[in-house]
Amino acid sequence: MRSAMWTAPAGQIEGWPGEGPHSAVRPSEVHPAKESGVTDRVDSETRSRMMSSIRGKGNASTEWALRARLVANGVSGFTLHANLPGSPDFAFPEEKVAVFTDGCYWHGCPEHYTQPDNNRSFWAEKIRTNRERDHRVDQELREAGWTVVRIWEHELDRCPGQAVTRVREAIQVYRSEPDR
Ligand SMILES: [Zn+2]
Repeated sequence: MRSAMWTAPAGQIEGWPGEGPHSAVRPSEVHPAKESGVTDRVDSETRSRMMSSIRGKGNASTEWALRARLVANGVSGFTLHANLPGSPDFAFPEEKVAVFTDGCYWHGCPEHYTQPDNNRSFWAEKIRTNRERDHRVDQELREAGWTVVRIWEHELDRCPGQAVTRVREAIQVYRSEPDR
């Protein structure tokens, strides 16, 4: 039965509801299989968490964590999900800086993405498509004069201060080069 919910074609999976603050997948829950080399060890509970994370693009809590950090550090002037290519999580229109928080699973983080044991080719294709879209979005934004900052879910987990610094630096580049 567990494979039943994996059979929807990609077009139907896109835009599924279910995004929520508890949807993030913690690397320690998803990736033990990588260390043991046995992907079947992911238990059904973890799998269902992975599922809900995938449905919600896996970055809602990452986005919230970064937002809280930015606010706490006095970084302001951003809008959420601006009407720009890729709908950046944070956009600084004044400085033309777009910030994305990328879930490790959904965006195929080279460090943390592991293939599920079901429908491998489907998910490999899905993740590949997502990564290609990320690259295309970056290119479109850059061609329009935007600076793109992408922050991995794991970066925010490990070094949230550094993530804030990266955003801050991108903004400051603009402020020190007003004629760019
Ligand atoms: Zn990662």
